[in-house]
Amino acid sequence: MAELIDGKALAAEIRSAAAERVRALKDKGRSVGLAVIIVGNNPASRTYVNNKKKACADVGIESFEYALDINTTQAELIGLIEKLNKDDRVDGILCQLPLPSHINADAVIDSIAPEKDVDGFHAVSVGNLVLNKKGMRPCTPSGVMRMLKSKGIEVEGKRCVVVGRSNIVGKPAALMLINAGATVTVCNSKTRNLPEITSQADILIAAVGRPKFITADMVKEGAVVIDVGINRDENGKLCGDVDFSAVRDKTSYITPVPGGVGPMTIAELIENTVLSAEQKAEKINN
Ligand code: NAP
Repeated sequence: MAELIDGKALAAEIRSAAAERVRALKDKGRSVGLAVIIVGNNPASRTYVNNKKKACADVGIESFEYALDINTTQAELIGLIEKLNKDDRVDGILCQLPLPSHINADAVIDSIAPEKDVDGFHAVSVGNLVLNKKGMRPCTPSGVMRMLKSKGIEVEGKRCVVVGRSNIVGKPAALMLINAGATVTVCNSKTRNLPEITSQADILIAAVGRPKFITADMVKEGAVVIDVGINRDENGKLCGDVDFSAVRDKTSYITPVPGGVGPMTIAELIENTVLSAEQKAEKINN
């Protein structure tokens, strides 16, 4: 029988450990701050930003919101980030994606100081991940790795299949698995014979963005299935990329949606922000 990996409970543990670290910094006279930039009025982005601000408040991190008009220019946005790079109250800078089409997201992300890149999307952070060096790691794949670890699921030597190759989930997840010693296949929309590939996976990670896309015939008996997707089904109900009820009984471990990877992403963001503040405090002390 499949065991659920409860992201909500694990995220709560991470947040409570982060709250202690924030308290320890405050005892030394150091506050922890996250700047959150949102451009335009995309309702999903607004919900994400509100959730992140609330999570910060819960652990004692101060958040500074910059809600910018949809017509903000790229130069204005980068100008704001450059100010925040120098702002001592700010340990992390998060620019909520997607950005309006007249703004080049890569240029904006790369204007964030790498030590404040708590989303882990900066080219320097990505380079560090590729080279398996220390650095900020992207939150969602970090959450996935932590979920595996929490259940003692060994990655080294395993055959892992990641469906999706986005810069924010699929690619970094694959890199983290490679760094952990797995044999990794990354699939995309052009992949041929997808079910043949996914059904060889000991660990299958779905980051596709299509409701219930992974069906039972695509999953090996006893596999670990991690569902990153956040979608709405035909009735408007939240669901993942995995057809949970059909797949569940074939798996050894599976993550639910909601309550799986989603809460882990915010917990990892909180942890990256605390880590950045601790590193800054250490630099000042030395
Ligand atoms: P994305 O940028 O749209 O990437 C989707 C990937 O899936 C692409 O690489 C695409 O291939 C691939 N794909 C699409 N159709 C496919 C098919 N038929 N067969 C195989 N691969 C296919 O999406 P994303 O940002 O990575 O997000 C993926 C999902 O995760 C979404 O549901 C998103 O909402 C969710 N998400 C959740 C969290 C969280 O915290 N839980 C965080 C981020 C994202 P091509 O590259 O060839 O187009």
